[in-house]
Amino acid sequence: MKAIKGKRFRRGIHIADKKQYAADAYIEVAPVPQILSISMSQHIGKPCQILVQVGDEVKQGQLIGKADGFVSANVYSGVSGKVIGIEKRANPRGMVSDYVVIENDGQYDSVCLEPLADREPNTIKERIREAGIVGMGGAGFPTAVKLSPSTPVDTLVINGAECEPYLTCDYRLMIEKTDEVVSGIRLLAKALGVDNIIVGIEANKPKAIELFEKYDDLTIVTLKKAYPMGSEKHLIYCCTGREVPVGKLPADAGCVVQNIATAYAVYEAVELNKPLYERVLTVSGECVKEPKNLLVKFGTSFQYLLDYCKYDNTNLAALIAGGPMMGSTMISSDYYTRKTDSGILALDDTQADFIAPSPCISCGRCASVCPMHLLPMSIDFYTQAGDYQSAAKYGGVLNCIECGCCAYVCPARRSLLQSITLCKSQLRKK
Ligand code: SF4
Ligand code: SF4
Repeated sequence: MKAIKGKRFRRGIHIADKKQYAADAYIEVAPVPQILSISMSQHIGKPCQILVQVGDEVKQGQLIGKADGFVSANVYSGVSGKVIGIEKRANPRGMVSDYVVIENDGQYDSVCLEPLADREPNTIKERIREAGIVGMGGAGFPTAVKLSPSTPVDTLVINGAECEPYLTCDYRLMIEKTDEVVSGIRLLAKALGVDNIIVGIEANKPKAIELFEKYDDLTIVTLKKAYPMGSEKHLIYCCTGREVPVGKLPADAGCVVQNIATAYAVYEAVELNKPLYERVLTVSGECVKEPKNLLVKFGTSFQYLLDYCKYDNTNLAALIAGGPMMGSTMISSDYYTRKTDSGILALDDTQADFIAPSPCISCGRCASVCPMHLLPMSIDFYTQAGDYQSAAKYGGVLNCIECGCCAYVCPARRSLLQSITLCKSQLRKK
């Protein structure tokens, strides 16, 4: 079906997409290190219950962490080998959880999930839950939970925007695994019980748009290149014209949003009986000599992947897990891949700097770009004063989607995002 033009949301920013580094790099199967450290908390919700002990032998595709409750997700081993440790480690956001350390025996002795008896909605949903699939765009919300909205929905919106600079892993899946991704999208729609499927793709991916136009049951919406187009609320507005009310969820506008990589994982779980233990991610940035899109096992060391892509830290200014706008700046590369990692970036000093913040000059730029129409300078002001309630009342911090547009344009280099996350965590504690 010929693509239609999407709407444009107000505000946001235009940034260089830097996708040229890895956009033409075919998905490559990354080598697997000898030791993997697999997090038991790769999702939003309760960490898994560890099912293995030090000394146990495991297989590729074996369940090693069992979901602990409704909002949780199973974790599987991506290699066969021996469990040599269970350790506490921090993820790039600084959250500490248990990691199962496995010595890879290089045999890839595998087990699969049982083949499904049918493709009924509840069977698909149960398979998605069993396979440990979560939102792979970065949020990590368990997909099976998202497919059980409390209000009726009529539309599945697929996020093919990939609006974060540098990242090209979803784009490569769209053009190299088109049929598989579309199969996953149809399974998601069936699980949800909807016929209306919209795929939103940014205009800077004409090849992906052309390939997706072949499928008559999908409505393809060409989106203007703007950041943060991939935010659920903005994507829904641009694809359907519906507005998600403040403080409400996409389901309140009749929609559920899923990501391209998630759809691909659903295809693999349902059609290939493969649980989620690996994903495609982008390794890129000015300090990476050979930017790549790699299929990596969860638990692979970031440093191992950076070295594989010929990382040179001579002019390094920032190491980032995820995209440069919403990802986490890391103090080292001593972290391990998880379900939500769409990229590892090494930016040089032309792209990132750490100039100390100066006082706010009340220029209003932060508010003028905020796609949620908030007052970031007020959030910062009240948060710095320890008055978190006023930050919520006058700044609207609880509606912030943490897109980073405000911090990006601030001439005083105020640490607006840090204030926002601090304020939210303090309010949550209360
Ligand atoms: S206040 Fe929040 S939503 Fe608004 S620009 Fe800043 S990070 Fe984005
Ligand atoms: S952009 Fe920065 S300097 Fe300008 S009002 Fe906002 S916080 Fe203050």
